[in-house]
Amino acid sequence: MTHIYNFSAGPAVLPKEVLEQAAAEMLDWHGSGMSVMEMSHRGPEFISIYQAAVRDLRALLSIPANYQVLFLQGGGLGENAIVPMNLVARMAQPATIDFVHTGSWSGKSIKEAQRYADVNVAATSEPGHFTSVPPQEYWKLTRDAAYVHICTNETIDGVEYNFVPTIQGDTPLVADMSSHILSREIDVTKYGVIFAGAQKNIGPAGLTLVIVREDLLGHALPICPSAFDWKIVADHDSMYNTPPTYGIYIAGLVFAHLLRQGGVAAMEKRNIAKAALLYAAIDVDDFYENRVAKDCRSRMNVPFFLRDETRNEQFLAGAKARGLLQLKGHKSVGGMRASIYNAMPIEGVQALVDYLNEFAGR
Ligand code: PMP
Repeated sequence: MTHIYNFSAGPAVLPKEVLEQAAAEMLDWHGSGMSVMEMSHRGPEFISIYQAAVRDLRALLSIPANYQVLFLQGGGLGENAIVPMNLVARMAQPATIDFVHTGSWSGKSIKEAQRYADVNVAATSEPGHFTSVPPQEYWKLTRDAAYVHICTNETIDGVEYNFVPTIQGDTPLVADMSSHILSREIDVTKYGVIFAGAQKNIGPAGLTLVIVREDLLGHALPICPSAFDWKIVADHDSMYNTPPTYGIYIAGLVFAHLLRQGGVAAMEKRNIAKAALLYAAIDVDDFYENRVAKDCRSRMNVPFFLRDETRNEQFLAGAKARGLLQLKGHKSVGGMRASIYNAMPIEGVQALVDYLNEFAGR
């Protein structure tokens, strides 16, 4: 059988070793006689799974003790409402939220936040069709904003931050890291809140990770559902209501796997090499094109276009025949997109590069 490489933007490829372990443990987890899916979230078996997952994630990202790790539901888009409901009451009223608009996902966050507070778009790369991150010197931030929201990797546009903004005063920085968390080293202390849907670098869809500084807890609006009030969730170790238990289990397997691979620093090294290999094959001549400014190109999501777009279907069919799956670009931008998350081995990127060269007649 042809080796399959899955370039989906998410839900996305997971480490083979993790899937094999999950398969082996599917019917009987560690002699418990139960599948993890069948366990009470309050029983000792699941509590041990949960604790190991939190411990390993803390180790992977060096999460300081004054930050809480929360497992929620609702996905990245859910957080677009949950974040303002938890933070807008904390600072000067009427509250303003500052956003930096760098693509589709920060755009969706802006729309949702407008239901809860005034929104100031401090900077936007829309005039350049979302092909860069506006440098911080051009941002027009609000004094005492409730928070500053950025999307540090725009999954659709393929744009990634190469700097961490500095925010003055008591205003926290909130980052949607859904599509690049655990792919590069980060300094958690620079952020008030980090959130991520799991379905790219963490595990299955249905689990949302929130890392929040403790002093930001306890400010939820009265309209905030209790199950999404970070303080309540934190006080109950993410078990105020039934958490997505199987998702937490798979995430825990992924975290342990990453630690065995050398952690986030080792992932970052591999991801730099993978991205360099792929962008080089796109840039070598004008058969393909990536429109993102070189210093803002995502290491995780690589959109590209054929100069002759009439050949798109032929390209995708040939890719599929070679086991290179889910390369079609997002419907809002067209073209192609290769997502090369942590679990994509360099052999998969090399197979794609070989095909790019072959299709271009190089
Ligand atoms: N933010 C980013 C950066 C994303 O890539 C996505 C999903 N692709 C979302 C938010 C939305 O996540 P969800 O579908 O889990 O709500």
